[in-house]
Amino acid sequence: MKSDHIKTLVQDPAVGSGVTVAGWLRTRRDSSGFSFLEVNDGSCLANIQVIADKNLANYESEIKKLTTGCSIVVRGELKESPAKGQRVEILADSIEVVGWADPEHYPLQKKRHSFEFLREIAHLRPRTNALGGVARVRSRLSYAIHEFFQRQGFHQIHTPVITTSDCEGAGEMFQVVTEQELNEGSPQSDGINSFFGRRAGLTVSGQLQAEVFAQALGSVYTFGPTFRAENSHTSRHLAEFWMLEPEMAFCNLDCNMDLAEEMLKYLLKDVVEHCQEDMALFDKFIEKGLIDKLRHVIDNDFVRVSYSDAVEELLKSGRRFEFPVSWGVDLQSEHERYLTEEAYRLPLIVTDYPASIKPFYMRVNDDPTTVAAMDILVAGIGEIVGGSQREERHDVLLGRMQEAGIDEEEYQWYLDLRRYGTTPHSGFGLGFERLVQFVTGMHNIRETIPFPRTPGFAPC
Ligand code: ATP
Ligand code: MN
Repeated sequence: MKSDHIKTLVQDPAVGSGVTVAGWLRTRRDSSGFSFLEVNDGSCLANIQVIADKNLANYESEIKKLTTGCSIVVRGELKESPAKGQRVEILADSIEVVGWADPEHYPLQKKRHSFEFLREIAHLRPRTNALGGVARVRSRLSYAIHEFFQRQGFHQIHTPVITTSDCEGAGEMFQVVTEQELNEGSPQSDGINSFFGRRAGLTVSGQLQAEVFAQALGSVYTFGPTFRAENSHTSRHLAEFWMLEPEMAFCNLDCNMDLAEEMLKYLLKDVVEHCQEDMALFDKFIEKGLIDKLRHVIDNDFVRVSYSDAVEELLKSGRRFEFPVSWGVDLQSEHERYLTEEAYRLPLIVTDYPASIKPFYMRVNDDPTTVAAMDILVAGIGEIVGGSQREERHDVLLGRMQEAGIDEEEYQWYLDLRRYGTTPHSGFGLGFERLVQFVTGMHNIRETIPFPRTPGFAPC
């Protein structure tokens, strides 16, 4: 059915014209001789008010029985609205009830529900203002990511979801087995997938495959679902999340950081501009000062500091952290947040981490105890981006792989990239849900993805 989007009717109203709106009822209020219906169609946060006169054929039989959640199609005329807070309303010529929603059982009432409760009804929560808004902002951010990279001449690469390289995923990879193996009672204990003849799992990162295409197409990005079976019950971890991973040939760590900073600013600017209504809602109800927080990020240079200096900063803070700090330990979320929220009060790019805590593919610095890594930390979350310049020197890479106990046979293809026309190259991974979290102010990452998956939780 062709209907008019409320978004268009509200933003660019053609008063006096005939319109059709198809949506879900938010509320019904009866007055003498007519009813007010608030209808939402999901095209935007705003509802449109419909005036249903008692002379409508089904007024007594149906309209007066409408409750929250019913789906209806309204045909009528768009009018200037005398009421405050809305420019237009619809004077209905007809209202067709498409689907009833038994008020005895429909779980969404007019009052505000907790996010925990809404997670239990994942199939209905997008009908709330907050979760509907998150879905729209998420969609816009995804669009803006493609726009940013495509405009700069990057090519999107669809890296595989089933992967047979598990170097990064040690212990946190979901293994893939066939139904037949299960039916026969025993997936082989070495995890060999009989279909592929080797171990297979769900991807924990598309980076290694993106590197392949960067070494042919120059600048590429992959953006897709990523899986980690880490047993984290935090507000920042999901078992299934989306990751954006650009990878650039002929690009060193500075070039990598510049791109990441430019990209983040571009994305924030884009949503502040294009999602004003939803952003205003988040600013009011989810995180006070949200838009100012984003503008602060857009308008200022990120601080770039080495891991060693960051550790100094933490040590001299006099803070008692749950995890004590010393050179060589990985930064925990509490450290990351102290640095960005209190010490520097800006997004922070921490560089040159100890080689011992970073993966084998990161480029070894001249010192040579550190690697050319860079993590971007933001307020409220901590790490939002993790990246590095990759080790392009064949022998150094081989040495790091041997140290890490990685089977070089399996990674011949990865080593080959260093044997044939190697280049200095770099890339990073942006956790898409952490970005949505930062942008919307949602406290828990589970509100940023349509269907969250966490340990013990994957309802629909
Ligand atoms: P953390 O230390 O926060 O667990 P990480 O260092 O393991 O993250 P990377 O392997 O560097 O993460 O992945 C790149 C980015 O992907 C991270 O900066 C983060 O934004 C995001 N990310 C990683 N793990 C998760 C997860 N389980 N859920 C959601 N996003 C994640
Ligand atoms: Mn990381």
